[in-house]
Amino acid sequence: MNRMRRAAVLLCADSAPLGIGEWATEGPEVHVVSSLCGTPEAIGQVLARKGIESLILGLCSGEYSLAEIQRETRQLGLDPFGVEILHLQGISAERSRLFLSASVARAGAYEGSRPENAKLCISSQIGRRSLLKLALTEYRCVPAVHEETCAVRTGCRICVGACPHSALAPSDGTLRLDKQACVSCGICVTACPREAITQPTCTPSQLRAEVQVLLSGEGGEERHPLPL
Ligand code: SF4
Ligand code: SF4
Repeated sequence: MNRMRRAAVLLCADSAPLGIGEWATEGPEVHVVSSLCGTPEAIGQVLARKGIESLILGLCSGEYSLAEIQRETRQLGLDPFGVEILHLQGISAERSRLFLSASVARAGAYEGSRPENAKLCISSQIGRRSLLKLALTEYRCVPAVHEETCAVRTGCRICVGACPHSALAPSDGTLRLDKQACVSCGICVTACPREAITQPTCTPSQLRAEVQVLLSGEGGEERHPLPL
C-alpha cells in the first residue's frame, strides 16, 4: 500500500465561506490566504521549507494563472500535477468542506508523475502580470506508456485504434505518444486491457479515494447518497 502524501490546503480568503477557515480533516494543514487567486507567490511564502508533497488550492474563481501557480509550486519542488485546484465561489461552506475533503483524499492517493507525463504548452492566459513574472508556459498531463507491460510488440493496437486524435502509433516495437496531438482525454487509458498506459492525475486509486469521501459525506454535514 502506498504511503499517503503530505498535503496542505490553501484557501483564498476572498472565497472561503463562513466557517470554512476552520475546516480541517485528519491530515492536512489548512491556511487561509488573502487574495490567493491574484497573488500565487503567496503559495511559496506560506509553504516555504515545509516538505509538502501535494497541494489543494481553494480559489474564488477561474481567473487565476495556472502558469504562475505551477511556477510557484515548482520552485517549492512540488510535482506540478500534484496540485488540485477547486473553485469555491458561490459554494456553501458545507459543500466546500465536502469537496475539499474529497480533494485531500484524491491528493493523498496521487502516486506522482514521470517526466514523460509532462506536456509543455503556451499558457492560455498571458496577461501583463504573467509577462513580468515570465510565467508564459504551463504543464499539462498526458498519459505515459509502460513498455514492460505494453503488448504492442505482439501486435496489440487497441489504444491506437481508440485514440480519436491519432496520437498513438507503433514505432520500432514500442508505442509512441505524440504529446502535441494528445488532448489528455484518457480514452486510451480505459481502452488498454493491460493497464500499460496510465495518466497519473486520473488513476483508479485516486478516483476510489475521492468517490468514497463524496459518497460518505465526510467533511460536510449531510450524507450525499447516489442519485437514483
Ligand atoms: S492497448 Fe495497452 S497493451 Fe495494447 S498497445 Fe496500447 S498500451 Fe500497449
Ligand atoms: S489521452 Fe486521448 S488524445 Fe491522448 S493519446 Fe490517449 S486517447 Fe489519444
